[in-house]
Amino acid sequence: MSDAPATETRGFQTEVSKLLHLMIHSLYSNKEIFLRELVSNAADAADKLRFESLSHPEYLAESPDLAIWIEFNKDTHTVTIRDNGIGMSKEEVVTNLGTIAHSGTAEFLRQMSEEQQKDAGLIGQFGVGFYSSFVVARKVEVRTRRAGLGHDQGVYWCSTGEGHFEVGDLNRSERGTEIILHLRDDSHEYADAWKLRNIIHKYAEHIGVPVYMQKEQGAAKEGEEDKKTEAPEWEAINQASALWTRPRSEVSDDEYKAFYKHISHDFSDPLTWSHNKVEGKLEYTSLLYVPTRAPFDLYNREAPKGLKLYVQRVFIMDQAEQFLPLYLRFIKGVIDSNDLPLNVSRELLQSNPSIETIRSTLTKRVLDMLAKLAESQPEQYQNFWNTFGTVLKEGVVEDHNNQEKLASLFRFATSKQADDTQITSLDAYIEAMPADQKAIYYVTAESFNAGKQSPHMEIFRKKDIQVLVMTDRIDEWMMSWLHEYKGKSFVHIAKGDLQLDDAGQQEEQKKQIEAQEKEHRSLLDRIKTALADQITEVKVSSRLVDSPACLVVPEGDIGLATRQMLEAAGQKLPPSKPRMELNMEHALIQRMEEEADEDRFKALATVLYGQAALAEGVQLKDPSEFVGQLNRLLAQLLA
Ligand code: ADP
Repeated sequence: MSDAPATETRGFQTEVSKLLHLMIHSLYSNKEIFLRELVSNAADAADKLRFESLSHPEYLAESPDLAIWIEFNKDTHTVTIRDNGIGMSKEEVVTNLGTIAHSGTAEFLRQMSEEQQKDAGLIGQFGVGFYSSFVVARKVEVRTRRAGLGHDQGVYWCSTGEGHFEVGDLNRSERGTEIILHLRDDSHEYADAWKLRNIIHKYAEHIGVPVYMQKEQGAAKEGEEDKKTEAPEWEAINQASALWTRPRSEVSDDEYKAFYKHISHDFSDPLTWSHNKVEGKLEYTSLLYVPTRAPFDLYNREAPKGLKLYVQRVFIMDQAEQFLPLYLRFIKGVIDSNDLPLNVSRELLQSNPSIETIRSTLTKRVLDMLAKLAESQPEQYQNFWNTFGTVLKEGVVEDHNNQEKLASLFRFATSKQADDTQITSLDAYIEAMPADQKAIYYVTAESFNAGKQSPHMEIFRKKDIQVLVMTDRIDEWMMSWLHEYKGKSFVHIAKGDLQLDDAGQQEEQKKQIEAQEKEHRSLLDRIKTALADQITEVKVSSRLVDSPACLVVPEGDIGLATRQMLEAAGQKLPPSKPRMELNMEHALIQRMEEEADEDRFKALATVLYGQAALAEGVQLKDPSEFVGQLNRLLAQLLA
């Protein structure tokens, strides 16, 4: 086997070289990962062969007992991982082992900063795969033949992981792939039965293909050359039954975690999981995991997502997206159905009526699993919320039926907290509400401080009413779909007319305001004329305590800060102006009422509008005019 065939040299795709370089440095303390990745690939290759043999039984017939074999040699410092799975054609070898298939990964690698490159966990997020071999190997050789191709169509691949690889033709009678790792000097320890068995045991227990390991290698003494070439004796390492087919009580947490890593290529343990067998009209088993970390492409809606689909334990496809809604795209797992036909395709999945039923059950299962996590491990849940909360919020729009359930999982910062590290559920908010409070109050803002210090908050502070402070970009959009929770309606404190008190008091207040507006009519009109370009009308406010003025958008309209953000992102929105509300108790307003000089009045009005807009986190259209007017006023004041 040692004589290498004639080959040609090819260059790796640039990103592969970069990935290799990164990996060798960042996985230094996590070297054993290569075994998990290679065994995982070999198991996938067996799955794919089983699938293809449904339509080509002759593929399997050639060598029917699918398995993975692991050999080592202490003298030559090599470890070999062999499978009789699907194998690869020459073209497949060149693409699979020379490029990074997923374009998102390549793009991500290009954009990674120096700092990020040192983070091993980050590397784990896009699956290190085959290339992790180079963490322990100075040279990697691959011999493979694809199922269905002739013995003369075997392929040889070899590389030292430095920018290029060799590829050539090979005569190969065995179907499948053999990967030979020539260990680096600092990794010789892996050519050892005890070491290998320990690691593989950890990673292979859940795999549905038998994994065999070479029994301890006899020491080859001087003159005993033949001992080195003796056929090894094999020892089975795993039970070779797919993990999800086993009863829950017989699977340990460690096995669940290892299986998660196998299907997700994630380095970190999952946060939680849910394993269920459904019997009855539809029969299927699902095993769903919530990851601890977000994949780098969580917000790319085109990124791969979905479950691994099996039908009667035969692997059918990766990334079956039809089983979960888009807002649960971070969930990883397996679904094994007894009802779907083995030849099911993505198109068929889309039109199969039982999928809809399974999907709604799985959705509910995920939401229940999250609710359970929130209740039993609030700290872990907070981590989950910080990582995936924004995605979960999309569900309000995507999944009306589960709105209330989703909302119960949401967490927000509130005006009663010092910062936004503490978050509150809607249930806790309602629990803390005084008996006569009817609505759930919230504000959307660019930052927690902008929300908490907004002039709109003044009356709530005075009356000691808690307000949710929402700062996610998606919040305003989401809240336009979420109207109530447990019978309590949501009220944005910076929109429309505020109705804080009970009906009797409200009537009273309305009369008072009307009277004030009558009394100060000429002031309101003068301000409106001075600011005609910026506002629709001027009213006396019931919201303000300390600030002289604030801006209010109509109910159902988009907030000022969000409008600004969307417009900056290039969106065309129908034009809309806020109204201005005045605090009649404020000295500045009282002073304006006496101002006879029209120029100075105009300056005061401009400053009034400018500060109200700034307090909302809104940038001024004409900052220099604002600053000019402000300076003129200050100069007069100081003269
Ligand atoms: P990933 O497994 O995440 O796709 P890898 O870098 O590990 O990435 O492998 C790239 C591709 O090479 C795989 O998707 C598969 O098509 C192919 N491959 C790797 N190992 C094997 C194997 N043992 N048998 C057949 N194909 C393999």
